[in-house]
Amino acid sequence: MARESLRIGEVELRALEDGIFTTAAGNLLGDDSLRARIRGALQPVLAVTAEHIVLLDAGFGPEIPPGLKESYTLRRERSLPQSLREAGYEPEDVTHIVLSHLDPDHAGWALQERHFPNATVYLQRAALEEAAGMPAGHPRREVAASARHAAEEDWAVLLEGDVQIVPGVRVEVRPGHAAGHQIVWIESGGEAALFTGDLAPSNIFLNPDLISSADTDPEAARRNRAEILSEAERRRLPVFLYHEPTLAVARILRTEKGGFKGVPFEG
Ligand SMILES: [Zn+2]
Repeated sequence: MARESLRIGEVELRALEDGIFTTAAGNLLGDDSLRARIRGALQPVLAVTAEHIVLLDAGFGPEIPPGLKESYTLRRERSLPQSLREAGYEPEDVTHIVLSHLDPDHAGWALQERHFPNATVYLQRAALEEAAGMPAGHPRREVAASARHAAEEDWAVLLEGDVQIVPGVRVEVRPGHAAGHQIVWIESGGEAALFTGDLAPSNIFLNPDLISSADTDPEAARRNRAEILSEAERRRLPVFLYHEPTLAVARILRTEKGGFKGVPFEG
């Protein structure tokens, strides 16, 4: 079993789970001609600081949204709330939820309805605005409507740029996969770890030359991916890979071809 928890200074980090989805590769890469099936984990991260309990991304929610039911199947041993309970916390304990962006496989439990009744949800205003402007039927557009509703009710906060959410948890805007896509730095006691959201969510996406038309700005995605992975490699940081089924926490290495790969993080 790959490593799924570690401590960064005073912050306890643990990869939770919300199931494994299967879909045609084309649905992830934005190329309908790709029929090969691909598996992706849903691995939100729990960050427990001295005073706060923070979730980084929030799985698919109780079920796959109607618009994706045809193209995605979901297999679950445990849902995000069940996985959280196994880690020793109740949904009521969560104080902050950070959303990398508004794809339904990242925002599900946070916004469909209020499954974490005491948590405030943090997303970038730019992510909301881009998602709200998607064509009718686009999965992000529905999530944007929920996010706007949550913001109006004051349980979601629309961020405008890089900010510290709580001591030890900082977001940095790294767009490309979506406008306002944010990654999360965990920093405490001189150590750091990184949650990449969908900037580099699994081993296949560690290749900076992979161009996915599922990214709304592929060139920005490619540039940001290369910069962040270079930094992670240089600093030997633990990196949480949201969609990689067997490698929740990776160390990033360079490949001979000038790309990157993830290997189990040994500490
Ligand atoms: Zn994703």
